[in-house]
Amino acid sequence: MDYALQISKRKKVINYERGSDINDFQLSKNFNLKEFQSNSDNPVVMLDPKLVDLLQRFRDKLNKPCYVNSGYRTPEYNEAIGGYEKSKHLLGQAADISKNNLDKTDDELIQIAVECGFKGIGIYDTHIHLDCGYYAYPNEYGYYFWDYRTKSEE
Ligand SMILES: [Zn+2]
Repeated sequence: MDYALQISKRKKVINYERGSDINDFQLSKNFNLKEFQSNSDNPVVMLDPKLVDLLQRFRDKLNKPCYVNSGYRTPEYNEAIGGYEKSKHLLGQAADISKNNLDKTDDELIQIAVECGFKGIGIYDTHIHLDCGYYAYPNEYGYYFWDYRTKSEE
């Protein structure tokens, strides 16, 4: 068996037998690289370290697990789910965090996100979008905000 063949066999083991565990790497106290990969079937991932710093701050303030519904997205995946074509998810600068377990009102979540220093904050029915990307026209407080809720909060 020659060397190249051994290498390719090893790669095969990582990609196919271990599957998405290829990204099982702890980035901070509470976030693992695996949580940011494009989707459960695709281990491709790109991530801005600044995002992890801000998310860890957010998580520390909440003192609750933060579940990443969507982190990095490949252009193909973003298109498939109908994402915005200039989404910060394409740059590894955004995460959608599930609101379900956080026990905070939307206004409280937004306030905490602002305090953490996120540059893009979007509120949705089921999650809050947080990113550390660049916006040409942030608001007077230095971030860009959008509200895509279809249900009003009780
Ligand atoms: Zn998002």
